[in-house]
Parts: sequence; structure tokens; C-alpha cells
Amino acid sequence: MTIRALFWDIGGVLLTNGWDREQRAEVVTRFGLDASAFGERHKLAVPELERGRMVLGEYMAQTVFYTPRDFTPDDFRAAMEAVSQPHLETLALARELGTRHRMYALNNEGRDLNEYRVRTYGLNQFLLGFFTSCYLGVMKPGPAIYRLALDLAHVRPGEAVMIDDRAQNVEAARSVGMQGVLYENAAQLRKALAELGAE
Ligand SMILES: [Mg+2]
Repeated sequence: MTIRALFWDIGGVLLTNGWDREQRAEVVTRFGLDASAFGERHKLAVPELERGRMVLGEYMAQTVFYTPRDFTPDDFRAAMEAVSQPHLETLALARELGTRHRMYALNNEGRDLNEYRVRTYGLNQFLLGFFTSCYLGVMKPGPAIYRLALDLAHVRPGEAVMIDDRAQNVEAARSVGMQGVLYENAAQLRKALAELGAE
């Protein structure tokens, strides 16, 4: 079948993860927070953050600034943003693929960090739309977000490829009929897309 659209995960694919375990551990250590207290609060707040029902300021108020600190919310936000780094080879491949394919983001992220990452790394220069959990109110690996993205992009499942670094998210994409590529690195992705006839 002809491939008509590519759907990209962002964290762990085009960029480093946004606010995953490793990034949280790094920032929590830097600010000398109690990792277990932070972890408990994060677990309760993050689904609301990523579904767009809580902004970053509210998330930080619940997880960090519920008690006096010797640093400010701006300091903490800056540290959260600084751990986002680009995967340069994959970004270059994506820009090249964007000249031949319709391409969209399909990712889980909170609104503030997502906007920072899109703007900082120019992801809107080659992605035509952002089907992101914070805008759609649903998250991967739930099938609803894949179906919504397919409907909004108006593409048949079999003509769409999901590129994601998590096996569970790729499996969920396949469960709604999409093609799936489990991302490892730029070279492997190029080869996998070529095998699907999408290079
Ligand atoms: Mg990912």
C-alpha cells in the first residue's frame, strides 16, 4: 500500500525525552529534592499535565513548590527545558522526508514543554500538525489518539506510519491498522521506512 503520511513521536526520536525518568532524576538531584516525595506527587499530577488539564505552573506548584524553596519556579522551569536536546541526525532525516511526505507529530507531552520544544527545535518547519496529548486530551498507548490523528489528517490507517521509540506505542498503532516502526536510530529508521516503501 502507498504510504501517505508519517506520524512522529518526539521524545526519544526527534529529540531526547522531555520529562521522563532520566530527565526528572537529573533535575531532582540538581535541586536537592527528596526524590521519593517528588516521585509520588509527579505520579498523581503528570496524567493531568499531559492531557492538557494542568499547566506547567500548576504542576510545579503541586510537585515542587508546595513548601518553601530557595529557588524559583522560573529556575525549575529553565532546568526542565535545558534537559531537552536534539537528535541531530534524525532531525536531518525528518527534514528530508518532509519534502516528500505529509508528516505530523503524535506524542504525549504537556503543553508548556511541548511548545518550548517545538519552537526551540523548529519542529513546525516540517511537521504539518501536532496531535499531542495536551491538545487532544487522550494519550498513547490508548487507541483513541491514533484514531483521532488519522481522522484529523484524513488518512487511512494502512497508509500511515507511526515512528516511536516505545514498543507498546508501536503495537498500539498497529492495533488500529497503522504501519509501525520501532525507532532505534536515524540509520535504522531510514532502512525501515525504505522497506515500507516510504523512502
Ligand atoms: Mg518516545
